[in-house]
Amino acid sequence: MDQQQIDTFRAQPVSAFSHLIDGKHVPASDGGTMDIISPINGQVLTTTAKGTTADMEAAIASARAAFEDGRWAGQPPAARKKVLLKWADLIEANALELAVLGVRDNGTEIGMAIKAEPGSAAGTIRYYAEALDKIYGEIAPTSSDILGMIHKEPVGVVGAIIPWNFPMMIGAWKLGPALAMGNSVVLKPSETASLSLMRMCELALEAGLPSGVLNAVTGEGKVVGEAMGLSMDVDVIVFTGSGGTGRRLMEYAARSNMKRVYLELGGKSPNIVFADAPNLDEAAQVAAGGIFRNSGQVCVAGSRLLVEASIHDDFVAAVAKAAAQMRVGDPLSMETHIGAVNSEVQLKANLRFVKTATSEGGKIALGGTQILQETGGYYMEPTIVTGVTRDATLTQKEVFGPVLGVTPFETEAKAIALANATVYGLAGAAWTSNLGRAHRMIRGVRTGVMHINTYGGADGTVPLGGVGQSGNGSDKSLHAIEKYVSLKTAWIKL
Ligand code: NAD
Repeated sequence: MDQQQIDTFRAQPVSAFSHLIDGKHVPASDGGTMDIISPINGQVLTTTAKGTTADMEAAIASARAAFEDGRWAGQPPAARKKVLLKWADLIEANALELAVLGVRDNGTEIGMAIKAEPGSAAGTIRYYAEALDKIYGEIAPTSSDILGMIHKEPVGVVGAIIPWNFPMMIGAWKLGPALAMGNSVVLKPSETASLSLMRMCELALEAGLPSGVLNAVTGEGKVVGEAMGLSMDVDVIVFTGSGGTGRRLMEYAARSNMKRVYLELGGKSPNIVFADAPNLDEAAQVAAGGIFRNSGQVCVAGSRLLVEASIHDDFVAAVAKAAAQMRVGDPLSMETHIGAVNSEVQLKANLRFVKTATSEGGKIALGGTQILQETGGYYMEPTIVTGVTRDATLTQKEVFGPVLGVTPFETEAKAIALANATVYGLAGAAWTSNLGRAHRMIRGVRTGVMHINTYGGADGTVPLGGVGQSGNGSDKSLHAIEKYVSLKTAWIKL
């Protein structure tokens, strides 16, 4: 990757996107379109189709027909694997173009986007392609006159709803295992980050995925997302996004066909630093990166810094120093550490959180304001608020922006109690040289992912899922496959 290549892709006009239904580009049934605003400069980048309920129903019907006639599920595993591996290759071959398109759409700094988006998406699809012919059914331990078999069957039509922070990576977490197991899919990308994911779906068709097996419909969540949620013909919904939408999807399932609903939701992840951390300078650097990269728009962001009281002031100063050195700005510059906030709505929400935090007694140790207004884009300084109490809004509510709340603690037990004081349970970390304490923190902090002496970076070999109101089910690793299969028992009298 070099700056010149990035700038070449950045200069390219982006043509209008339409839905992908039954292998074809299709406009909205009523001709509606949505402007796509780039957070880099607040300008219209292109348009996408503004989907209708009828569009979603057409996509679901296409996926159903493709599933029922076995054009994908009925292919030998080796054939499905070949297509998925080709798809991963195509994503990799077009990685920079895809990454730049995605950054123009959602504002993530390019250094992170290139790895986390096409790089990770290709790796994920390859992982499930390689896995698909290594997954066996089971034979039950029965008496000799019975053969009890457990088949793993594709579930049918999978609806995947994706957020805006890492559309290709999170899209691949759903599409990889869903398609590997033979399902058909209808995808609904985010209104504010659809372009690179739509392009990635086009590449799947180029790789040889039969038409109708993967359909993608753009538009508003409350229209096309709701139509998917209420469909009688979608068997499973896999969702990453906010708790509010997750709750609605469960309601839709209850009101329709009781489809399975798997949710990956928000977090308020505690990053817990003990005075006996092996390297406090490193911990401070990582703490800053763990909240401020991608402007804090990372589900597992370490948004609560819990610091042992004896090192509190020095450690906060070190995190503030590290954060102040992170350059905020043009996400397509390779020198940028923190890109743009995804949308004006999100930027305003972030600023409101800062105001609330100070009105509740928090003190701003760094940042707190919008910057670079002259660009027309949406940029915010990395922000650190100290003196955040257990019940403060900044402890209890996910910001999903570059805002770090700091709370001191005195004892290990108090650290665990503080860590567990929210409805969330997505990720966390503890920094300590004490092996016993490290294991007590892994056991004691209620999260889906617990880091020790690091933050973030867990690869595709391990699951990512939340407990509490951070969700159910997991993405990544072989465990994710469970969401995309049904178990069928065959009980045979011999
Ligand atoms: P969001 O819930 O607003 O939107 C997510 C998706 O849901 C979008 O595609 C949107 O169009 C769709 N949607 C909105 N309303 C809908 C409705 N009524 N019915 C069906 N679909 C609807 O979330 P967001 O703002 O795009 O993403 C940010 C959230 O995602 C944060 O809470 C973040 O923590 C979470 N997240 C979680 C993970 C994880 O793995 N746990 C990963 C990334 C992001």
